[in-house]
Amino acid sequence: MLDPSSDGDTLQFLDDETDAESSKPLVWRLLVVDDEPDVHRATTFALAGVQILGRQLEFLHAYSASEAALLLAGEAEVAIVLLDVVMEREDAGLALVKTIRQELKLTDLRIILRTGQPGYAPEIETIHDFDINDYKTKSELTRTKLYATVTAALRAYEQIRKLDEMAFYDRLSCLPNRNKFIDLSEERLATSTLSDVVIAILDIDDFSEINDALGHQQGDRLLQSVADRLKFELGPDAVLARIGSDTFGLMGARDVIDPLRILSLFRRPFVVQDDAMIVTATMGLTELFTGTTSGRDALKDANIALKRAKKSRRGSFVMFSAEMGSDIRERVRLLQSLRNAVESERLFIVYQPQIDLTTNQIVGLEALIRWRNEDGTFVPPDRFIPLAEASGMIIAIGDWVLRMACHELVRLQTQGGKDIRMSVNVSQIQFRNPEFMDKLRAALTDTGIKPECLELEITESVAMEDADFMLETLHGVRQLGISIAIDDFGTGYSSLSQLRQLPIDRLKIDRAFVTELSDNALGGHIASMVIELGRNLDLKVIAEGIETEGQAARLKELGCHEGQGYLYARPMTSSALREWLIARGSIVGS
Ligand code: C2E
Ligand code: MG
Ligand code: MG
Repeated sequence: MLDPSSDGDTLQFLDDETDAESSKPLVWRLLVVDDEPDVHRATTFALAGVQILGRQLEFLHAYSASEAALLLAGEAEVAIVLLDVVMEREDAGLALVKTIRQELKLTDLRIILRTGQPGYAPEIETIHDFDINDYKTKSELTRTKLYATVTAALRAYEQIRKLDEMAFYDRLSCLPNRNKFIDLSEERLATSTLSDVVIAILDIDDFSEINDALGHQQGDRLLQSVADRLKFELGPDAVLARIGSDTFGLMGARDVIDPLRILSLFRRPFVVQDDAMIVTATMGLTELFTGTTSGRDALKDANIALKRAKKSRRGSFVMFSAEMGSDIRERVRLLQSLRNAVESERLFIVYQPQIDLTTNQIVGLEALIRWRNEDGTFVPPDRFIPLAEASGMIIAIGDWVLRMACHELVRLQTQGGKDIRMSVNVSQIQFRNPEFMDKLRAALTDTGIKPECLELEITESVAMEDADFMLETLHGVRQLGISIAIDDFGTGYSSLSQLRQLPIDRLKIDRAFVTELSDNALGGHIASMVIELGRNLDLKVIAEGIETEGQAARLKELGCHEGQGYLYARPMTSSALREWLIARGSIVGS
């Protein structure tokens, strides 16, 4: 009785009057719900053979409200329900209307209520609230009147579908848009077993630049061709939507939404009007799991993951983890308390000794910032430094650290710690600040530290960024007599030729590569490479995070000059440091 060839694809349904893949014309589906078989017969008879708005009618039949509800839950594309008000119960029809609108969420469907008894007319409000199209007594349903009523309802239905299409589909790509994507994910959340469903956002890298360079038409064509490839490659098992100007939403089983495979689809160029264009994309993904409150939230999570991915590297992907979500909410709170901490001076500095691996003598100290909460707990710098950077507070904080550290060293040197240097971490934001050099000079004069006793640690990624600007600043620092160490070395992507250009003094092997020294034969590969590199470039090498004698011995054997880590000492407060130095005979007690 149903036409299996109409597959419920909304766009096809609206665009083509006949389905290209089947010879059957498209039809309007009407559901007659009435407990009297006579009414069914009379209705089909009255409308037999008519065409409305270019399509034939097809009738579905239900003899009770519950049967109708079941049928509607399973059938797509019913346009009209001709509904008896009084069936198994006096209000069975109205109850079904509620089910249709609220539970089945069939909002496009037009409803024509019919009753034999005029006295049962529903309240105007009910008609309005449940979007009932028409209300007729059965006596009014002559052939002509029925035809007029059904035509009006179908016209309304078609209108609503067109509006839906605009509200839920993207014109350019003909894909579902953001709203529709959220709806679809909500449906997924409501129905399927979720353990395996993934939602992803795919963002085309630097699309606005492409658009500006090539013009919007060409940009549109590129998007179109990206959409086509994704749709083709993902197949029917995935939902693909265009959820932003240059972002796509993807949903499907974990093995279908496989980020590695999807990103690899961007290796082949996209042919856009004879131009072969290479673009890359970045992805953020999240798993739908029971307890995800809404599709909208899931999309937010995917977006957080996307931002992370973009931050780390274009063309990569990141999977959302719960910790990221709470992160964002926490950040706002944390930033507020960081402000308070600065004001109420709850930040302080600890110092960690750096040791010459050959002589076992202390050669330096690294200044590390600490934040103690009012309740005595600590907020680790890895958490609040990025926040201080994002808010610009790092400039004031960094300047304060620099001055405190210089003072500390000057004091220690007056107590005999002549050959000790002080290393201070400098963040990219500080480095880029136009006043940085002035502040540095001022810190030298104000504290009286000898510049050759001061070292700045910058991370590898910072050193490699914006080469010209960095070079100029680094040279400026060097000219003051201050030395420079590259922190966390091995985690960035610097090339040898880049490194050769940099005016630096020391490479600091990242803790991760020191840790892996303990993992028997396999480990230590990167550490030894860095040491070798240092030898070739005539740079000193220091290893951070040394925790065992074994690691220290191995590093020494590989030719590493200096080390720092819990094996020698943890970062210590100023007074604890003093005791430590006195105990080792490095300074004298005052
Ligand atoms: P970093 O500069 O690489 O500092 C080394 C980190 O390793 C420190 O963590 C230190 O406490 C830790 N560490 C040292 N030895 C060991 C060890 O043997 N085992 C282990 N597991 N860890 C060890 P911390 O103090 O939490 O600092 C984390 C990062 O925060 C620093 O990494 C640095 O990037 C940043 N940071 C700290 N203080 C400042 C500052 O004053 N300014 C700026 N811009 N960044 C800072
Ligand atoms: Mg450091
Ligand atoms: Mg480090």
